[in-house]
Amino acid sequence: MRYLNHINGEWVTAAREEYKDNINPATGEILGHVIQSAPEDVDRAVQAAKAAHKSWRLVPAPERGEYLYRIGQLLKERKEQLARTLTQEMGKVLVEARGEVQEAIDMAFFMAGEGRRLAGQTVPAELPDKHAMSVRAPVGVVGIITPWNFPIAIATWKMFPAIVSGNTVVWKPASDTPAMACEMMKIIEEAGLPKGVVNLVYGSGGTVGNALVEHPDVNVISFTGSSEVGRTIAAKGGQLLKKVSLEMGGKNAIIIMDDADLQLALDGVLWSAFGTTGQRCTACSRLIVHRSVQQEVERELVRRAQALTLGNGLDEHVDVGPVINRSALEQIDKYVQIGQEEGATLLSGGQIAKGELLSKGYFYHPTIFTNVSPTMRIAQEEIFDPVLSIIPVDSFEEAIEVNNAVAYGLSSAIYTNNVNRVFRAMRDLDTGLVYINAGTIGAEIHLPFGGTKHTGNGHRDSGLAALDVFTEWKSIYVDY
Ligand code: NAD
Repeated sequence: MRYLNHINGEWVTAAREEYKDNINPATGEILGHVIQSAPEDVDRAVQAAKAAHKSWRLVPAPERGEYLYRIGQLLKERKEQLARTLTQEMGKVLVEARGEVQEAIDMAFFMAGEGRRLAGQTVPAELPDKHAMSVRAPVGVVGIITPWNFPIAIATWKMFPAIVSGNTVVWKPASDTPAMACEMMKIIEEAGLPKGVVNLVYGSGGTVGNALVEHPDVNVISFTGSSEVGRTIAAKGGQLLKKVSLEMGGKNAIIIMDDADLQLALDGVLWSAFGTTGQRCTACSRLIVHRSVQQEVERELVRRAQALTLGNGLDEHVDVGPVINRSALEQIDKYVQIGQEEGATLLSGGQIAKGELLSKGYFYHPTIFTNVSPTMRIAQEEIFDPVLSIIPVDSFEEAIEVNNAVAYGLSSAIYTNNVNRVFRAMRDLDTGLVYINAGTIGAEIHLPFGGTKHTGNGHRDSGLAALDVFTEWKSIYVDY
C-alpha cells in the first residue's frame, strides 16, 4: 500500500518519490509506505485550497453542513473497519479505537448542525436609520497539524468546524498514522466535497509542518502536539502575525481524598493512567493521594495493573496495547532511570515486556512509582507513556497546590464525597478540564476542549469554541 497526497481532488505523488514505512506497533509488520513531501508540495496544496476558497466561502453554510452530514453517515457505516485500521497502525485497543471513531462521527453531526446556526448578532443601533450587526466570516486557508495518538478524532475537531464556517484546509497528519488520514480523505472524496476544499499532504513535521506554518497564504494554523513543537510554531506564527491555535501536552493528576469511594477511584486511575497505553494528552500521570489511604490504594492499584493483559489491540481480551514506536520505549526506560535516581520507589513495571509475541512489537509493562515528591522530574515532565507517579499529601489544600504546581494545565480529577471539597476543587483546579468522581480522560465533543498554561494558548478545539479559531468577527453598519 502506498499513501499518497490528495491535492485538488486527486491522489498525487510528491516532488520527490521518497517513502517512509508505516509500521504496526504491535507486530512490527510493515503496513505500507508513506510519501515524504517537500515544501513545493505544500505550496501546491495551499494554492489549491486558496483557489477553492473563492467559491467555497460563497456556498451557503447550511449546504456546507450537508456535506458534513454525508461525511458523518459514511464514518458511521465504516466505523468497525476504521477502528480496525486505527488499532493496526496506532496500537490502541479496539474498544478505544471504536470510541475514537465515534468521536469523529459525533463531531460531524454536531458541526453539520452549525451550518444552520453559525449565528452573529443584531443589536440596536445608537443612531436613527442605521442597522448594526456582526457576522462570523471565514478566515481563508487553514493549516491543520495533528498528532498520532488520536489520528482521526483530533483531525475532525479541527477540520469540521473549519469547513462548515467556509474555510478550506491543508492537513498534515502525524508521520506514524498515515492510514487513518488516507481513510478520512477517501470519505471526504466520496461525500462529494468540492475539489481543493480539503487537501492532504504527508511528510515530516520539520519539512511539511514547517512549510505550512511559514506559508504566507495560510491564514490560520491549528496544531495539536507537544509543547516543544507548539512553542516553535507560536514563535513563527507571532513573527508572521498569523492566528495560531495550540493544543499541547499535559501532566494530569487525579486526587484521591480520604473520604473517596476507593473502588470507584481505583477504576478511574487504572484507565486514566494505562488506557491508550498512557498515550493520551489527558492521561493521568500523577496520583495525588491522601496519606491515610495511600497504602490501600497502592496495594490494590499494583494488583490491578499487574493483572492487565498486554498484547495486540485487535484481540478483544487485551487491555493494553503497544506504545507507538521504538523511541517511545527508550523514552520510558529513560524516565524509569530518572525516577530511580531521584529517589522514587518503583512499585510495579519498569521493564520492556518480553515474550515471543510481545518482543515483536513495542510493549512496556504499566509502571508505577511511589513516594514521588512534587518537584521530581517524573512528577513535572510529560512522559506520554504508561508511567504513573504517586505523590502522598496530608490535606485537601496540599492536594490542590500539588495539582497546580506543574507547567501544564490540561486535565485534573478529584475523588471525594465531600460536597464542599467538590465545589472548591471545581473553582481551584487550574486546568481546562476538571472531573469530579471520574478519571482525567474522556471528553464530550460538545464542550470546549483544551488547557491552560503550557497546554494551550487560549484557544479551544471542539465544541462551539472551535468556531472562534476558524472565523473572524466582522461588525457591519448599514446607514439607510
Ligand atoms: P509532536 O509535537 O511531535 O507532533 C505533532 C505534529 O506536529 C505532527 O504532525 C508532527 O509531524 C508535527 N511537527 C513536528 N515538528 C514540527 C515543526 N517543526 N513544525 C510544524 N509541525 C511539526 O507530537 P506527537 O508526538 O505527535 O503527539 C504527542 C503530543 O501531543 C503530546 O505532547 C500530547 O500531550 C499532545 N497532545 C495534545 C492534545 C491536546 O488536545 N492538548 C491532544 C493529543 C495530543
